[in-house]
Amino acid sequence: MKTDLRVPFVPVSGPRSRDVITVQGQTVMEGRIKAIGLVSGGLDSTLAVAVLKRQGIEMLGIHFLNGFSSGMLQRLALARDEERERQAQTAQELSEILGIPVEVIDVSEEYLGLLLAPRHGYGANVNPCIDCRIFMLKKAKVRMEREGAHFIFTGEVLGQRPMSQHRQAMELVERRSGLKDLLVRPLCAKLLKPSLPEREGWVRREELLDIQGRSRRRQIELAAGLGITDYAQPAGGCTLTDDNYARRFRDLVGSREPPSVTREETVLLSIGRHLRINRNVKIVVGRDKGENMYLERYWSDSPLATTIDYPGPTTLIQGDPSGEDIVLAASITARYSDAKRQPQVRVVVRKDGTEEILTVIPAGDDEIGRYRI
Ligand code: SF4
Repeated sequence: MKTDLRVPFVPVSGPRSRDVITVQGQTVMEGRIKAIGLVSGGLDSTLAVAVLKRQGIEMLGIHFLNGFSSGMLQRLALARDEERERQAQTAQELSEILGIPVEVIDVSEEYLGLLLAPRHGYGANVNPCIDCRIFMLKKAKVRMEREGAHFIFTGEVLGQRPMSQHRQAMELVERRSGLKDLLVRPLCAKLLKPSLPEREGWVRREELLDIQGRSRRRQIELAAGLGITDYAQPAGGCTLTDDNYARRFRDLVGSREPPSVTREETVLLSIGRHLRINRNVKIVVGRDKGENMYLERYWSDSPLATTIDYPGPTTLIQGDPSGEDIVLAASITARYSDAKRQPQVRVVVRKDGTEEILTVIPAGDDEIGRYRI
């Protein structure tokens, strides 16, 4: 899944148009000063854009999708057809909010490699924030070179996030992304060493800011002062920071040697009830009609169980199940159906066009508790 929704790179007019750009007094390039920004459309990146816009910098915003925003995972599970349209809409909305062209780029397939083995480890859950930032900035750097832009900017604030926005991490990210000296963080630049664009006067450092910490007070005041009222609210956040998701992810990856995960599995981890029956077998029980339909539509290559005489969930059986495992999966399916209090329940297990009908006793809550991931 790769999307590259382009919006033309339109110059922004302003008081800071440059015809000649110099480094240490030498003319190195001619034309306007251009920057590429990593933008979410949230308050911080909106302010970063506003600060640079006042200096007449020409900007292109890039909004990378690593595939783990909860909204995106939910759409891929329950309304996949809407996802592409949603991405086009996001580009348009961000463009309107920020007042600069914005591209939305889906990098979710490529991101999986990083997620399995992040060089700088995970945060509190399975969020590889430092590697994530490096990955996005490297991509932005390629784009910077292709566009002939002069630097990259972000809306980062020193000390705002525990893993990736303390001074050491910010310096590390800058170095490892190959952007040393070419990364400007307008909201906290005055607390950092001056970058090349600041030293050379491509950007007026004195107009950049010194915001730090987790409080949003200064950003809110600044937004009010600049008349900014329209900015995107965080859209559900990054699922990789979620405890439940992290547990399921670790279980899946830890059950494989070598560790692996597919994009479709990352969607699957975001829905249903997950139960590990043994090292080789895991089941996923749909919680509602939408999740049942997702399992039937995208996972029909694996055995799927459902009750026959009463409404109930669809259960995906993954791995290499024995006959005993299938019976257990069927009894768990019965437990989550409307027949959970019946002494015996008929469950059908379908695979590759064949059907097996089992009569089972619904599993007890204690038993289920043992397997829940
Ligand atoms: S919270 Fe998620 S999207 Fe944000 S830097 Fe960390 S891993 Fe990347």
